This record gives sequence, C-alpha cells and structure tokens, in this order.
Amino acid sequence: MSTPTQQNLPTNLSVNQQNALAILSNLDLDEFNQLKDVMNLGVPGVIGPETLAKFIALCSRLKLDLTPAGVNSFKDIHRLGNTGPQHGVIGPTTAEFYFHTILALVDRTAIAEGCFPFKKLPNADWTSGSRAFGSNRSNGTRAHAGCDLYFPSGTAIHAVRDGRVTRGPYAFFAGTFALEVDHGDFIVRYCEIQEATKVKEGSKVEQGQEIARVGHLMGIVVPSDMLHLELYDKSGDASGGLTAKKAVSKRRADGIPFLRRKDLVDPTSSLDVWMNNLP
Ligand SMILES: [Zn+2]
Repeated sequence: MSTPTQQNLPTNLSVNQQNALAILSNLDLDEFNQLKDVMNLGVPGVIGPETLAKFIALCSRLKLDLTPAGVNSFKDIHRLGNTGPQHGVIGPTTAEFYFHTILALVDRTAIAEGCFPFKKLPNADWTSGSRAFGSNRSNGTRAHAGCDLYFPSGTAIHAVRDGRVTRGPYAFFAGTFALEVDHGDFIVRYCEIQEATKVKEGSKVEQGQEIARVGHLMGIVVPSDMLHLELYDKSGDASGGLTAKKAVSKRRADGIPFLRRKDLVDPTSSLDVWMNNLP
C-alpha cells in the first residue's frame, strides 16, 4: 500500500494538527486523493500545509473532534481497539474509518443532523447481506426498503431527531409493529417493534428520546430480531401510505420495486453519520 508524501510541514504541530496528519498520512493513496478532491485541492499524493489546514477545517465543519478526547471517543464508538498502547493512536484502520465517515458526511444524500436510534452500535453492520438497503426479498421480486439493525427483542429504540408521531403503532410484519415519525425534513418508519410504545400518533418526540422497543419476529426464520428502519425524504408530491402498490412504487436502479412510496431513500449514509452521535 502506498501512502501520501508529506511536504513543507512545520515541525511544531499542535496536538489537533498531529491527529489530522496521522489520519491523512495513514490513508491509502487512492483514498487520500479522493479526500483532496472533496477539498478541491490539486497536487495528488502530497500533504502540505494547505492540505492540513483545509482538512482540519473540513473536520471542524463536519463536527469531527480532533482533540485527543474526540479521537478516543471516535475509536471507542467504532470499536477500534482503543486500549493499552493503542489508546488514542491513529493507525491505518482508524484512518480508514475517518475516511468513510467523512465521505458519508459530505455525501449530500446523508442527513447530517440526528442521532443513532440505539445507545450502542449493533454487532452486525447495516450495509451488507440481507441487512442492506436494496437487497433482494421474495426471491428477487422486490427490494429491501430499509436497513436492518440487529438487536435483541426489547432493546430500547430512540428518536433520531425531534419530531411528531404521525401514525402508529400499527401491525407491520410477522407479529411486530411500526411507528411513523415526521422529523421535519424527513419521515422515519421505525419497523418490527413491540406493540407497546412510549409514544403514539400525535405525540411530540425529542431527539434521543426512547420511543419504542425492538419487537420479536414470529413465524419466520431470521438471524436476529431487529429494527427495520425506513427513510422518506418528503420529496416531490409524495402523499398517502408509505407502503405502495407495484405500479406506483419506488424502484431499484434495475427496476425491481421496493413496494414503497416514491420518496423512499436509502438510509445508509445517514446512519453512517448518526453512528457518530449516540443518544
Ligand atoms: Zn428489513
């Protein structure tokens, strides 16, 4: 793996500058150059004073804390082996996590403001296999309309932002229930939850507030109970129920329908951002 070259950097860097430099200098060259593109910088492969300054400004704008406390918190959240001699150290793996977090944050499709719907991250990611948005369902005749966050039945679920419950709880799938919350710029449907919820249609919710619990799926074989989270961006003239017939459904790029309203969007990049802000 080749890494970027440092050029003309001062020797008396502050702690935050040292952390920024550790992230940049541990990145794979291709990833580093993608970051330079994001920052509209030329001279691929080289970390100079301008790259370092712009990177620190970018992290500040994205609310990524480069102080030792911020780095330790980032490593803890992402379970980056932050103990013993590794405590506070930014190596290639940690740099890689920063890279993906930054890309998710600058991705215009990500909803920046919000928190993760659980107090800790699930052991299984929400980006691969059948947990991923758009994965096949029903023998490939429809596409998965959300991300699956695996947690045991009964785990507390938290509102991702302030909002108001617009529907539910109502029966959803395999003995579980769903709750729809209008969070202002977007709607989240919290699915596969228990029938008993802390809030109901009309309730105001605050970001981070416990609203429901993970339900238990019955009569189907799944690796785990879960929160199935769907996101709608309220774009266009979308109205009516979130579940939609095939003829009017949002479709995957290859035409496979989600059987959902047209304003359904992929929640992955938003979850990738919210994971850095646990309730
Ligand atoms: Zn699902």
